Amino acid sequence: MKLAERTQLITPPGTSKMRVLANELKEAGVQVINFAAGELDVDTSDIIKIAAKTAVENGRNVYTPTMGMNSLRKLVAKHVSQHSAIEYQENEVGLTAGAKQALYNAAMVLLNPGDEVIIPQPYWVTFPTQVEIAGAKPVYVDTRPRGYKLMAADIEAMISPKTKAVIINSPNNPTGTMYDADQLLQIAELALKHNFWIVFDECYASLLRDGQVHSNVVKLCPKVKERTVLVNSFSKSHALTGWRVGYVAAPIAVIKAMENLQGHTTSNPNSVSQYAVQAALENENGAFIANVNRLLQERLLAAQAIVAQMQDIEAAPAEGAFYLFLNIEAKIGKTFRGQVVTNVDHLCELILSQAQVAVVSGSAFGDGSGIRVSYAISKEDVLEGLSRLKQFFNEIK
Ligand code: PLP
Repeated sequence: MKLAERTQLITPPGTSKMRVLANELKEAGVQVINFAAGELDVDTSDIIKIAAKTAVENGRNVYTPTMGMNSLRKLVAKHVSQHSAIEYQENEVGLTAGAKQALYNAAMVLLNPGDEVIIPQPYWVTFPTQVEIAGAKPVYVDTRPRGYKLMAADIEAMISPKTKAVIINSPNNPTGTMYDADQLLQIAELALKHNFWIVFDECYASLLRDGQVHSNVVKLCPKVKERTVLVNSFSKSHALTGWRVGYVAAPIAVIKAMENLQGHTTSNPNSVSQYAVQAALENENGAFIANVNRLLQERLLAAQAIVAQMQDIEAAPAEGAFYLFLNIEAKIGKTFRGQVVTNVDHLCELILSQAQVAVVSGSAFGDGSGIRVSYAISKEDVLEGLSRLKQFFNEIK
């Protein structure tokens, strides 16, 4: 049996591998600490749950308009307008089945085969795969020499006549780092000068550690609105990963093309989820996200105190989202209880088998020198898991 060549480009996300292994061990009775999840550990709000139940009881179980209910599009447009301090109309936004579909739509409607897309590295696993499915070519910008910060000059060095877009994700998965406003402004100016798109993934914009302020590229440079696709999601901000609801804001022609595509793929985002997030946008007062950020701040501080005691391990600036990205380069080629650590994947296997801790290998994010630790788990587990990691790392000689 011969499948389409396209299938060669698609492998399962590297982030799911560790989750599966950790769950298998857990089921076998091993006390695994799981730092591999990409979602919050808190339950969603009552506003969302009640609105969803009411929607079901009221028979809201049928198709909605392709890019979401008009009432919800209006609310999302208002929300995006406030967030980016520039007016978005309802036909400049659309609802999608999570940010993932928004990004997929963007790849499909913006990219031609042979186009180049600049992607900062380490990157969220799905960005390059979607670009490749569209027949375009990812061009990587390594942020590691800049302390995981994206610099405009590094983007500029990669621009070619084929450059069609840059994908920016801030706060960043996997590093938790946020990109600086002055650099984003310069990138916006580059996009206008060289006529490329900015796909700006701000799924973690509301998950900020104390003292951090999120920079939205359109707010920084209103003119770049015409070259920007803003991507956002209720998955992380509302602990709603399973309900599949995200959104996109972009010029009308882009949204229209996405609507045509979406009409032939998923028809519309889940109807019940739409009613639920509509209620959240109408009624929430910020208490849910404030509580989540308070919990995450506490856990991060607890985690950082232990990371500081790990020999030769550096962390990326943990400014947003809920990830700590640890540089483990110094441990590669060294020995753990007689075994040479050959690469980052091997290191992660050893961490799981020897310390019963699941982390995600940086190789999933195009970075063989890092591991991702999610601190969206209980504080007790953060303390226990990182203590085990510290002991493990400090034994590597
Ligand atoms: N973008 C980034 C950077 C992510 O980390 C994720 C999920 O982990 C997504 C997009 C997809 O989110 P959603 O659940 O809304 O599809």
